[in-house]
Amino acid sequence: MRVSELFTKTRKDAPADEPSKNAQLLIKAGFIHKEMAGVYVFMPLGLRVLDNIKQIVREEMNAVGGQEVQMTVLQPKDIFEKTDRWDDKKVDNWFKTKLINGSELGMGLTHEEPMVDMLADYVSSYKDLPILVYQIQNKFRNELRAQAGLLRGREFVMKDMYSFAKTQAEHEEIYEKVAAAYHRVYDRLGIGDITYRTYADGGIFTPRFSDEFQMLSPIGEDTIYVDIDKKIAVNKEVINDKRLEQTDVDKTKLQEERAIEVGNIFPLESKYTDTLGVYYIDEAGNRQSIIGGCYGIGVSRLVGALAEHFSDEQGLVWPEAVAPAKVYLVRLGEDGEVVKVADSLYEELQKAGVEVLYDDRKEASAGEKFADADLLGIPHRLVVSQKTLEKGKIEHKKRDKKDISLLDKSDILKTLA
Ligand code: ATP
Ligand code: MG
Repeated sequence: MRVSELFTKTRKDAPADEPSKNAQLLIKAGFIHKEMAGVYVFMPLGLRVLDNIKQIVREEMNAVGGQEVQMTVLQPKDIFEKTDRWDDKKVDNWFKTKLINGSELGMGLTHEEPMVDMLADYVSSYKDLPILVYQIQNKFRNELRAQAGLLRGREFVMKDMYSFAKTQAEHEEIYEKVAAAYHRVYDRLGIGDITYRTYADGGIFTPRFSDEFQMLSPIGEDTIYVDIDKKIAVNKEVINDKRLEQTDVDKTKLQEERAIEVGNIFPLESKYTDTLGVYYIDEAGNRQSIIGGCYGIGVSRLVGALAEHFSDEQGLVWPEAVAPAKVYLVRLGEDGEVVKVADSLYEELQKAGVEVLYDDRKEASAGEKFADADLLGIPHRLVVSQKTLEKGKIEHKKRDKKDISLLDKSDILKTLA
């Protein structure tokens, strides 16, 4: 992609009404556009980051047997009435709307009820289970405060997966398999070392814990207690819970930290399946309850969390796995030879499958181009100028390193392709 053709531009200042660092950075770099508090548009470069995260999540969910679907945003009221989650007094952050005839609809807050209700058409026998189904979709929540940029949206992107098993043992096997897949997702995103599986309350209908995946961050909304050596953590709800005595948590080893919840997984027992009347018939012909689990990842929240974590004074510093491009190619000057070398490098890198953002702008100064390269946070910066060509070389710098090296074109193609 040529910077001269990109319809977004970088800007010097963030909007005055944007208090959060992640949104300030992402808006300045042209990755997102603020529509209103808690509601953001993903612009071309931001969308690439979002899509890269989605793809990692998708690959890891598929690897444990997840099957992707896309559920609907508009939701019927009756199934949520059955589980007692329709009333605003029970769930206070619904966005709701109405048909012309007056019937009420909900707007994608969560999808346990529609998922279980749909299941009734496909599951009746033990032969139909277990099942693992997920989607990556926009969720709508009327959050009280939306001051944290992408960390707390009123419209945001979530991966939500649901498992259905014949027995508690089968459920637990799936649950642990998904937990391991979550660790792989965070490892691939470059935050594995600071993301902790965290004991949390499972809610009123299960005696078990649920698990949050918490990324350490000074700006996190959550307080957790971590055991650095064992790499486990406990959240505020359960730090004084008697049940912790039966786990591997040693309370004397825990230290308090702030964190961002980047995912969570819940045992659902048979709460939704029983309530919505979905059962299976076992081998002996008896009706049995279906044991459920649900598994969320905050996909757009991760864009914000990564922006907060991977940034410095100059701007963003994306890890390669999510960066919108691998190379930022700066062309300095309009000299015929410079243009020729830069154009051909651009083409050759693209041919080799390397994503390049080519700063071919005529009107921008060298200083502006370097500042934008830093703000955008592309992992590798290449510079072609008269000065570098006099030495027969191209300049290479990594976004997260200080040193600059002069390389031959062939070496560049070899190291980056
Ligand atoms: P939180 O406690 O942060 O409100 P939650 O318990 O409501 O999260 P879930 O409903 O289980 O979260 O959603 C699954 C994941 O979706 C969360 O772990 C989080 O990463 C993400 N998420 C939840 N609410 C938001 C939001 N308003 N904006 C962005 N991401 C969100
Ligand atoms: Mg919430």
